[in-house]
Amino acid sequence: MRRNISYRNRIKNYVFSEAANIYKTLADLNEVEFIIARNKLNMLKRLALKTGVRLPRKYKRLICKKCGELLIPGRTARVRVKSKRQKHIVQTCLNCGYMKRIIIDVEKIKSLNSI
Ligand SMILES: [Zn+2]
Repeated sequence: MRRNISYRNRIKNYVFSEAANIYKTLADLNEVEFIIARNKLNMLKRLALKTGVRLPRKYKRLICKKCGELLIPGRTARVRVKSKRQKHIVQTCLNCGYMKRIIIDVEKIKSLNSI
């Protein structure tokens, strides 16, 4: 029997599987593939926004919030761990210079390690 999948769920499945496919190939993209992956991810992000699907964090962090560049550490992004103030990761877009701070939840990591 075919299950009744709603429109939003279909979009969700599509967005997640496409994003996962791009995520897998990130390490070895040539110039053309890089542009295709960037445009596709931006398209998926717009689609997710429009349909109310929440994109997982790891895919969301791949796109620069300011210029839409695909962020690959060592290629188009600089990633640094800072321990001043609260411990956090700084991800800098090398295209436009936008900096994103990601706070490291130390308590959460500790609780994960103790199990
Ligand atoms: Zn940028």
